[in-house]
Amino acid sequence: MATDAHNPLQTLEQVFGFTAYRPNQEVLVNGVLAGKDVFGVMPTGGGKSLCYQLPAVILPGCAVVLSPLIALMKDQVDNACAMGIKAACITSHVTLDEKREIARAYRDGTLDLLYVAPERLALGSFIDFLQQRPPSFFAIDEAHCISEWGHDFRPDYMFLGELKNLFPQVPCAAFTATATEKVAIDIKTRLRLHDPVAVRASFDRTNLFYEVRSRTDGNQQLLDFIQDQPQGSSGIVYRTTRKTVEETAEFLSRNGIQAQAYHAGMEAGERTKIQDDYIRDHYQVIVATVAFGMGIDKPDVRFVVHYDLPKTIEGYYQETGRAGRDGDPSRCLLLHSSSDVAKIGYLIDLSEEDEEKKRNWALLRQMDRYASSSVCRRKSLLGYFGEVYARENCGACDVCAGHFKEIEATYEARVMLSAIARTKQRFGSAYLCEIVTGANTDRIRSFGHNELKTYGLGKGKPRPYWRRLIDALLAENYLVISEGEYPVPQMTAAGQALMKGEGEFHLREDTRIEPSKARKNTTAANDDPEYDQSIFEVLRKLRTKISDEESVPPYVVFSDRTLRQMAAYQPKNESEFGRLHGVGKAKLERYAEQFLAELNAYLEEVPELREKAVAIKRV
Ligand code: ADP
Ligand code: ZN
Repeated sequence: MATDAHNPLQTLEQVFGFTAYRPNQEVLVNGVLAGKDVFGVMPTGGGKSLCYQLPAVILPGCAVVLSPLIALMKDQVDNACAMGIKAACITSHVTLDEKREIARAYRDGTLDLLYVAPERLALGSFIDFLQQRPPSFFAIDEAHCISEWGHDFRPDYMFLGELKNLFPQVPCAAFTATATEKVAIDIKTRLRLHDPVAVRASFDRTNLFYEVRSRTDGNQQLLDFIQDQPQGSSGIVYRTTRKTVEETAEFLSRNGIQAQAYHAGMEAGERTKIQDDYIRDHYQVIVATVAFGMGIDKPDVRFVVHYDLPKTIEGYYQETGRAGRDGDPSRCLLLHSSSDVAKIGYLIDLSEEDEEKKRNWALLRQMDRYASSSVCRRKSLLGYFGEVYARENCGACDVCAGHFKEIEATYEARVMLSAIARTKQRFGSAYLCEIVTGANTDRIRSFGHNELKTYGLGKGKPRPYWRRLIDALLAENYLVISEGEYPVPQMTAAGQALMKGEGEFHLREDTRIEPSKARKNTTAANDDPEYDQSIFEVLRKLRTKISDEESVPPYVVFSDRTLRQMAAYQPKNESEFGRLHGVGKAKLERYAEQFLAELNAYLEEVPELREKAVAIKRV
């Protein structure tokens, strides 16, 4: 593509429709343009693709991108093509004729980007082909797949270590979202990167709001939460088992949410179809086991809910990272109940190896502590990855938003602890809550627990309160969950002391208004102007229609942010349209007319909306 080699910023604007770099992109882009090896460790949504797409457009010849997942590759190619970049991918789905066509374009130098899977690169014939005209550079996406220390090791990636031998003159640009330092070092060594321009970005995802709520009635809490999000927001709900995945998906569907179950028990074809339909906005919510989300590139996931306690903080952070890749505000909710610790712990105990058992228990306890603590979520999460978060208030987590207040609960704690002592530390949390609230059940009577001094002492407070109290006592080590087949809360020395009258106990009370009762608010990007939701919906429908016709994901047409700006600024002509975020030359030519016509038709129907137009500026 003919662009000005000396002015990448101009290409950024003309091709991508962006006015500025995201943090760290500039250094990496300039590194590649200068013919150096580069190594970018950036979180999901950090904008890694641009770091190789932009130089690929500017540099003569074609860049070869190694990417592990075919589904992802195709979407990336569609996305690049929609911006007018000459991109293609070679996979087993490409016909022989198409392959010849791609090879010809590559040789003629009319291709900018060629995506291939690492196993193809390992073929001698493909290497010969590339050696006839070496690529402008190699870009290695998801580079952590080369490391055995990482969580996604792929033997195919090992071959990439040979690239430096086979193509000593061709620069290598490697990218990963892996946060651990050990893996980063491993990648650099294995790829034999030569004095790379290296960037390690902060893993802080500033657009994500983290919150944890005590799980009392999970389904209802989930439904309230989803209904509180702006209309039509896409989300992922993680559950641990196939059965619960199906139950929750059904529950949501019954309540008017377009939800779909997804789990490893489904056949591969069916899973791919669900992913594709989700990316194309045919479902609003996917309820899935953690298998979902790895290979999908949907930038506008607006919320991720963990219905059950995740096993590790690293896994949790990665899953929440699938929200808000486009940089728009998104929410990550964890529904927490310490009873999950027992369930997961039971599975951990099944493993044969002692070392593994110990490690997994430690990881699980860390996760549970995170969920029960009252420290800024961001600070805890980043701290886990060795990053110090210096600000006092992150402004985007439940703790910093002031959702909690401390209330004195010493008396209540003593009631619960003594109920535990009097039942010989042999019963689970649910049963203990029944005892203190004086439930009239056969089971309680059969044990004679209705005769206990603590029976019914806590009637004045609802059962979920007592449940939270147990969670809090666990979190602060007054109680621990016993190991073994029937894990139950048991008292620690600190618990004994508290029961006998030493010290005080405070409970964190969640003071947020339940979402169903809260005012519905729209989530707009911080610096975006106000827009009318009905205009946005009209534009969104048009986007879905075009995306279906062209069989590309909606975001390939335009991002939500572009649509919001369209709704707010109400551009009147192509020149104004071209100033919207994400509108480069190619998209202007391709879509401006249709969107302007749709916008205008709607504004003629509802002329009073014209008064809401905001003066246009390029953001
Ligand atoms: P990653 O691969 O690091 O997870 P992507 O490359 O998919 O992230 O980029 C995430 C999103 O950010 C995409 O929607 C992309 O269009 C957008 N983006 C990237 N760079 C910029 C930029 N400089 N300005 C605005 N948006 C950007
Ligand atoms: Zn915070």
